Amino acid sequence: MENYDLIVVGGGPAGIFAAGFAALQGSRVLLLEKNRRCGAKVLITGKGRCNITHAEEDPRRFIEAFGRQGKAFLTALYAFGVDKVVEFFEERGLKLKTERGGRIFPEEGDAASVQKVLDRFLQDSGVELSTSCRVEKFRFEAGRVASVLTTRGEFSANSYIIATGGLSYPETGSTGDGYAWAEQAGHQLVLPQPALVPILLDVDWTAEVSNFNLKNVEVRVVRQEKVIAQRFGEAFFTRDGIGGPIILDLSTSVREALKQGKLSLYLDLKPALDTETFDRRLQRELAAQANRNFGNSLEGLLPKALIPIFLRLASIDPQKKCHSITREERQQLLGLFKNLELPVAGVAGFKKAIITSGGVALKDIDMRSMRSRKITNLYFAGEVIDLDGPTGGYNLQVCWSTGYLAGISAAGDT
Ligand SMILES: Cc1cc2nc3c(=O)[nH]c(=O)nc-3n(C[C@H](O)[C@H](O)[C@H](O)COP(=O)(O)OP(=O)(O)OC[C@H]3O[C@@H](n4cnc5c(N)ncnc54)[C@H](O)[C@@H]3O)c2cc1C
Repeated sequence: MENYDLIVVGGGPAGIFAAGFAALQGSRVLLLEKNRRCGAKVLITGKGRCNITHAEEDPRRFIEAFGRQGKAFLTALYAFGVDKVVEFFEERGLKLKTERGGRIFPEEGDAASVQKVLDRFLQDSGVELSTSCRVEKFRFEAGRVASVLTTRGEFSANSYIIATGGLSYPETGSTGDGYAWAEQAGHQLVLPQPALVPILLDVDWTAEVSNFNLKNVEVRVVRQEKVIAQRFGEAFFTRDGIGGPIILDLSTSVREALKQGKLSLYLDLKPALDTETFDRRLQRELAAQANRNFGNSLEGLLPKALIPIFLRLASIDPQKKCHSITREERQQLLGLFKNLELPVAGVAGFKKAIITSGGVALKDIDMRSMRSRKITNLYFAGEVIDLDGPTGGYNLQVCWSTGYLAGISAAGDT
């Protein structure tokens, strides 16, 4: 049986960083990945553009986005923060740019160019990579990992890192295998749940306008007239509901609130204008186009694809002339622009989840080194840990930082 200094299981962003940085410390590292290639999930991040991290260089402010769990992330973030991530990619020829809301993307190129940098990093750092190699079992002996059994035989090492990700988009290889090994070794598992998911709606028209971007809108989550949460930004309708950054960020509140009963989202397409100001604008539009068919008069105010739907919802005949639109009809239309009710049918599952919340409990990991508190030669990195943030590059930063720290710590053991 071949013996290594370190075996890393899982070739996603966390495993690649862990393996590469450990190898740069001089460790003999084997990275085991069950897919034919590393980074299947990286390729679909940020709608194929990969939102690498978030432009907030102060670690203390960065962790605010993680809520209660954030504090545990501080050491890893100090060890390999946003500035280091930017430097890592730029030094390797991938220029980055910051977009609206602090999202950092490749300036040119896409998620494939990010993965290319990661592949080259593995090669240059001297990691031995075994792809199409699925780890089936961890063998534990006397409080240590003794070896791993894989579809390509048994391997052993002084230390091991589990970086197998969560359960979301399972076709990318994230099938939750690491959870079972961690539990078997006595770690507590916080129930893994789909997070950052699209919201399913109880309306029949979203497929007609799916994937068309709604920019600068506001969405409120409301039950019994009480606003539970709200967000401003970008969204889009899907075949059976609504998705996009602000929706994903609202999805956990919606899932929790659904446990108490029915609720609705309310969409404001013109949040910058209060209802009275928007009404005056609408009246001006109608007056300026008095003899046009109402159906053709909304183009300045509403994305084309939404016009027939609004007319249907307001029960206004598209052939009706603008000058004969009644006050009631105008009020109804105003309601649709400023307060479109979207009854919630549910939230999507793991297949459509950007991340998995829950995972290996933070209390069972020494977050200053990423070492397990149960098994002395075992470390964790990335999404497998109970640490998840909102959209905006936060979750990949978890992978870079915890991957780096786990790799460096494990290399220190050898
Ligand atoms: C559609 C989508 C878009 C996203 N966009 C962004 C974004 O723009 N910005 C952002 O910050 N985050 C984004 N995320 C989240 C981000 O991709 C994840 O947080 C990140 O990929 C987690 O990395 P990881 O290395 O922990 O796990 P993963 O990327 O899940 O990698 C785990 C690896 O382990 C391998 N593996 C699993 N089990 C075994 C086994 N038994 N044996 C061997 N190998 C195994 C898998 O094949 C996989 O390659 C997105 C996620 C999705 C699904």
